[in-house]
Amino acid sequence: MLNLLTKRAKVLHLGPANYCWFTAPSRALCLRLAGTPAADRPLIGMCDSARCPQATHHPCHRPVWAEHADRTKIFIGQLGTTRKTERTRLQADFDRASRVVAEIDAASASMTEESA
Ligand code: SF4
Repeated sequence: MLNLLTKRAKVLHLGPANYCWFTAPSRALCLRLAGTPAADRPLIGMCDSARCPQATHHPCHRPVWAEHADRTKIFIGQLGTTRKTERTRLQADFDRASRVVAEIDAASASMTEESA
């Protein structure tokens, strides 16, 4: 694992919600959104890892995503019926966070089965 990390040190960025594998800058969502696809490092402040093909999510990231999903669900429940735009945006956010949690759980279950 350490050898892998050493080889990937120039492209791997460790974040609280994801690992960013910056191997193909032209595919980095943050750079595309910023209009700087030729940059040599990711824009962590604009990271949207749930939609970026350069990101991976792991069990250590699950609490962040689960809390985000829970909070978003509460916000949605507090919106009035006339707030359709906000509801749509928050629902998409909730769906992405829930998908990431489900993918982490599925990967964890798969690894558990393989090691059994
Ligand atoms: S959007 Fe996030 S995961 Fe994707 S390249 Fe940018 S910083 Fe990395």
